[in-house]
Order: sequence, then C-alpha cells, then structure tokens
Amino acid sequence: MKLLLYAAKIYDQKSFDMVKDKFPEIEIDYIDHELEPRTAGIAKGYDAICAFVSADVGAETLEILADAGVKAVLMRCAGYNNVDVEKAKELGIVVKRVPAYSPESVAELAMALAMAVNRRIYKAYNKVRENDYTLKGLRGVIFYGKTAGIVGTGKIGAAMARICRGFGMKVIAYDVYENPDLKEFVEYVSLDELLSRSDLISLHCPLLDSTYHMINLENIKKMKDGVILVNTSRGALVDTDELIEGIRMKKFLGVGLDVYEEETGNVYEDRSDEIMPHSTTARLMSFPNVMITSHQGFYTMEALASIAETTLQNMMDAANGTETGNDVK
Ligand code: NAD
Repeated sequence: MKLLLYAAKIYDQKSFDMVKDKFPEIEIDYIDHELEPRTAGIAKGYDAICAFVSADVGAETLEILADAGVKAVLMRCAGYNNVDVEKAKELGIVVKRVPAYSPESVAELAMALAMAVNRRIYKAYNKVRENDYTLKGLRGVIFYGKTAGIVGTGKIGAAMARICRGFGMKVIAYDVYENPDLKEFVEYVSLDELLSRSDLISLHCPLLDSTYHMINLENIKKMKDGVILVNTSRGALVDTDELIEGIRMKKFLGVGLDVYEEETGNVYEDRSDEIMPHSTTARLMSFPNVMITSHQGFYTMEALASIAETTLQNMMDAANGTETGNDVK
C-alpha cells in the first residue's frame, strides 16, 4: 500500500521512518508541497495521503484526490476543521485523524505561554543579551491562589487543568460536557461566569460553528482587567481584530497564542525575508504583552512518535475497513 505524506518536514520523515518497520505493508513517499487543489493530483497511484493542519482538504482537493484513486485521507493531527467531511463521505474517502497524542505536549506549552507573557520572559531574555539589567516592563503576578478558567476540558484541557492545580490555582471550567475525571478539583461554570472570574483563561475547545470567534469584544469586556488569555487550540476561536481592540483597552496582562487566524501560509515556513502585504499578526506582535508561537504545541518527541504510529495504524484500519474512534464522520 502506498502513502503520500504532504508538507513533509525532516522531523516528520524521521518520526515516520522510526516506526515504519512495524508496518511493512506500507510504503511511504514524502513531498514538501502542501496539500491543496494544485498539488492534489500528485497523489495519483497512492492509496492514501497524509496531511496536516494547514492543508486545504476542501471539496475541490477531495474531488481531485478521488479521481486520483486515493481512498483515505489521514490527518496527522487532532483537528480536522480544514477537511470537508461531508464531501469526503460523498466521494467514499475515509478520513481518519490522531485524536490523542500526548495532550501534555500542548497543555505544557499553554502553561509556558501563560508564564512567558506573565513574566515577560521574551523581553527579559533580549534585555539581558543587550546588557540591559533593568526590570522595566517585566513585572508579573503570581499564579498561586489565582483562578484558571479552562474552556474545553477534553484531553488537552484536562491536562492543563491538572497543571493549573499543580500551580496552586483554583480551577474553573466551561464545556458542553463535564469531564468526570476532573470533578474532584474543577468547578464547572457558565462561559460568562468563567470569563468574569478567571485570572488566566486557556482555550482548549475545537473550532466549530458554535465556537468560531467565541473570544470577541463582547466577551472580552466580560473578562477581569489584567487577565491572561492563552490560545493553543485554533486561531479562529478568537476574533483577532476585536482582540486587538481589547488589548488597546488594556484588558490583558498578557496574551499567549500558539495559533492565530492568519497562520495558514505562515505555519512552518521561513518568511523572514518577505515584506508582508497586510498583516494583523504584525499588529498583534507590536504589543509588549503578546507572545506568539507558530503552532508548536504538538512538537515534542513523544507526540511525534505517537502521531506517526497512530497514522500508520489508521492506514491499516482504513485498508481493512476497520472503524475506530479515530474516524472523522
Ligand atoms: P478533545 O476533543 O479531547 O476536547 C475538546 C473539548 O472541547 C471536549 O471536551 C468538548 O466537549 C469541548 N467542546 C466542544 N464544543 C465546545 C464549546 N462550544 N464550548 C466549550 N467546550 C466545547 O480535544 P483535545 O485533544 O483536548 O484538543 C483540543 C483542541 O486543541 C483541538 O480541537 C485542536 O484544535 C487543538 N490542538 C492544538 C495543537 C497545537 O499544536 N497547538 C495540537 C493538538 C490539538
């Protein structure tokens, strides 16, 4: 069976090569092109393709993949908001993903971002390198005794809740379902109550119609002054223009983003030599209390190994017609 892995970076190749001996039936080819309508035709002759968060797996791409004989789309990530699932179903293409791979990888980055914006680690690092040992602009707050509000308490949100508890924080949460594993130390509240009580708000729900722009000006106004907001989930959970308005209103002590609305096109690319035509992200980065990383939550040794192994198992399951919890339907 042949698998074509799109947008392959060296680290993808290494992690898949490390586990591929366990799946001798699968032959893998790697290409660095992103999956999109222009590149979908390259998959002719492959049984399955593997794509990542920035791929365009919309209707047009899927039609080209179906014509090329591709039977399965294997997402090497948890989110699948970039896949037209209905179209895939219509075309008889199986879609599978990796719903859980080291949730702590993302949760630990969420806390790292919260700590970094709180104590302005990025500024302090640069100041000391410039022989500037002053403390101007570095004052933070302690997390101990403060309230952490977790939006979405699935695998990653639960891991973040445990980390926040470890910091001695009171943990409150909002989710459409309550996670029974967290009942012992998490108080579930409405979204409005979470917004108004939290000192740290961390987003861990998927991007859905119901969650699109859930952080907008109306909701920002409900937050405490001096709140820290962290988004490691999906960029469009936050309305960036309205976030900028909130930052200008001095609502936030800090904002840490591993994901943001304009990230497609940037993610994992070196654009340091380009003049960006119009960039809301550049405006965001102009604020001293904002830190942005580029979708690196998943990027740990443990997560990469787990993603590679699960993706190849997904390919075997797709070939055998075996449905599992990894199917996207
Ligand atoms: P999960 O499915 O285990 O948990 C998601 C939780 O969100 C569930 O408990 C669900 O009930 C809840 N939810 C659904 N709709 C909601 C709503 N309207 N309001 C509040 N909560 C709602 O998913 P997970 O593995 O914890 O991943 C969470 C998100 O993290 C993913 O959707 C993905 O977008 C993102 N992610 C980011 C990275 C990264 O590298 N930054 C890596 C993996 C996942």
